[in-house]
Amino acid sequence: MEALVSIRNVFKEYVMSSQLTIPALNGISLDIIKGEFLAITGHSGSGKSTLLNLLGLLDDPTRGEIYFAGSDIHNFTEKQKVSFRLNAISFVFQFFNLIENYTAVENISFQLLLQGYSGREAKNRAREIIDFLGLSDRASFFPHELSGGQQQRVAIGRALAKDSLLILADEPTAHLDSKNGEAIIELLHDINKQFNRTIVLVTHEKEEARHSDRNIMMRDGKVVNIVNVQK
Ligand code: ADP
Ligand code: MG
Repeated sequence: MEALVSIRNVFKEYVMSSQLTIPALNGISLDIIKGEFLAITGHSGSGKSTLLNLLGLLDDPTRGEIYFAGSDIHNFTEKQKVSFRLNAISFVFQFFNLIENYTAVENISFQLLLQGYSGREAKNRAREIIDFLGLSDRASFFPHELSGGQQQRVAIGRALAKDSLLILADEPTAHLDSKNGEAIIELLHDINKQFNRTIVLVTHEKEEARHSDRNIMMRDGKVVNIVNVQK
């Protein structure tokens, strides 16, 4: 099985002052397999978000390497980093992070414009995605006119629109009720299967990790358990 990402002995320390250093990651080594649905669980403070931020180049490790398709991304030039963030990675956040004065369909087409699609192509493709999300009748609604679950669907549509190598979702159901939360997890699974996209889902709900290909548990900045889920 081909590794899309190889994380090798990664440490992250937050230096707060000369007396206080917080060790957030303590030697993580892990492969993310192309096409897999990987869940990462662990208590609050175990380092899950720190790891996702390093994968998304939002921050640099203190030590260790992260290889994407063979290249150490933290050795990229600034220009390569910008392009990598724009094209290779999609993020889904707890708080949806939609653009408030853009409609649902515009939030998706904007992503496509950034990636160089023409106006017409972006609009057509965004419409297709809105239909896939089951939000055809909400396409021209603004985020504040949508429920939390619908907003998160749009955010996931934006992540899907990007032709990225990896979708990183950091507790995407944390601010949803359980019914909407389940629907969001199901949508991520649909995207994994239908579009063959590699997905890393961070969650503190064990139940949400149940249908993943693999489930990794973190504690105190380390991977303490890897389970291949039986389906
Ligand atoms: P999780 O996502 O599993 O809740 P985090 O990765 O957010 O965990 O945090 C891991 C540890 O790193 C925690 O002790 C947290 O307080 C600390 N931490 C996270 N981000 C920062 C930061 N920007 N500055 C200082 N400490 C941080
Ligand atoms: Mg977190």
